[in-house]
Amino acid sequence: MQRELNEECAVVGIFNHSEASKLAYFALHAMQHRGQEAAGISSGDGEKLHTIKDRGLVTRVFDEQKLKTLKGHMAIGHTRYSTAGDDSILDAQPVYARYDLGQLSIVHNGNLTNAQEVRGELIEKGAIFQTFMDTENLIHLIAKSSQKKLKDRIIDAVHKIEGAYSLVFLSRSKMFAVRDRFGFRPLSLGRVGDGYVVASETCAFDLIGAEYLRDVNPGEMLIFEKGKAPQSIQVFEPTPKHCIFEYVYFARPDSDVYEQNVYEMRKNMGKELAKEKPIDADMVIPVPDGGVPAAIGYSQESGIPYEMGIMRNHYVGRTFIEPTQEMRDLKVKMKLSPIRKLIEGKRLIVIDDSIVRGTTSRQIVRMLKDAGAAEVHMRISSPPTTDPCYYGVDTPDKHKLIAANMNTQEICDFIEADTLAYLSNEALLRSVNASDTNFCTACFTGDYIV
Ligand code: AMP
Repeated sequence: MQRELNEECAVVGIFNHSEASKLAYFALHAMQHRGQEAAGISSGDGEKLHTIKDRGLVTRVFDEQKLKTLKGHMAIGHTRYSTAGDDSILDAQPVYARYDLGQLSIVHNGNLTNAQEVRGELIEKGAIFQTFMDTENLIHLIAKSSQKKLKDRIIDAVHKIEGAYSLVFLSRSKMFAVRDRFGFRPLSLGRVGDGYVVASETCAFDLIGAEYLRDVNPGEMLIFEKGKAPQSIQVFEPTPKHCIFEYVYFARPDSDVYEQNVYEMRKNMGKELAKEKPIDADMVIPVPDGGVPAAIGYSQESGIPYEMGIMRNHYVGRTFIEPTQEMRDLKVKMKLSPIRKLIEGKRLIVIDDSIVRGTTSRQIVRMLKDAGAAEVHMRISSPPTTDPCYYGVDTPDKHKLIAANMNTQEICDFIEADTLAYLSNEALLRSVNASDTNFCTACFTGDYIV
């Protein structure tokens, strides 16, 4: 099966602001952690849509000159995070098209689970695709809809797709934001100047000086039109199944996601972990940056001192995006190095947010032991990652997930730690003030919703 290419992204939309594309740029910059493969912005000045997109980081794709050409009072933007496969420029977003109603640009965070079927049907009826992105299906569904208004065509289209989507559309004069009925991926609404902003994470609001208003509801569509307050249409009955992995790993700690602060949630996970999986040691150290808040929580709960035992080089991209195993090994070393003087002869509790393939943990344990650590006790602030995600988080196939193939003791042996323990699913849900009815925990439980 062709891999979908718009997983784990960030989206933003700015409406009614004289510097719309600049604000979109800054918002994308704040959300760069959600995707480093490609970035793009479409702007609209009431006449034309202007689009620039390319591979690479937001700061590489845009400069002052380029942003000046993205004219208009509205703009939508995207950063893409993808793994293997075709990373041609065609697979960057926004996806832009001309059709019978005019011009349309779309950005999408999430993953459509019925994309192959929908695409197959469209191709059978003569549609021609330029990319492997499931987002392109939407263009075709909207173009083929018999409805007269774009609003109704979008509603038509989202009834034909399944899975996870936080979408922002730009037409010549309007902006639309839609979130799937489960609210899998986050999407928040804010006020900026006399205009509005929607963004995947509220850290984007902070940077552009926007005021948070509320989250876009699961199943809700917002329509932004000049001179009017945003119009809300509840397209689907909301049945929240928020992605818990946003709290575990993906979102930035300064963001409020699903109306709760991510840092606090992670710290809670660390506290719960200390209660559930205690062990005597000299210090608690995080695997930076992901493990930091949980390590602080673990330290506070256990009374064992917190230290920064591992330094992170911030000029290396995330290790996950390299497709080959050798490159991943090297990149862990390039990224993380231990403070020898601090950890020599010490019994360490090492906190990380998750173990996926096991590569990172194994290297970290080795690195710490080589640097003279007496004992290394790995503590993971989430349950074993046993199942792949089909709703927009990039996890490898099941056979590559170490916890799908080994039990905790076997993983402990593999990563060569003295002990290994994970947070239980119940404690994770407690940490984020949730019951398992309003969160998706499929990556830890295999309970898929769609
Ligand atoms: P691994 O070496 O495959 O076990 O990777 C585990 C590391 O990757 C952990 O330190 C996590 O912080 C990080 N991680 C977990 N999930 C993801 C993801 N979806 N994308 C990128 N990094 C991740």
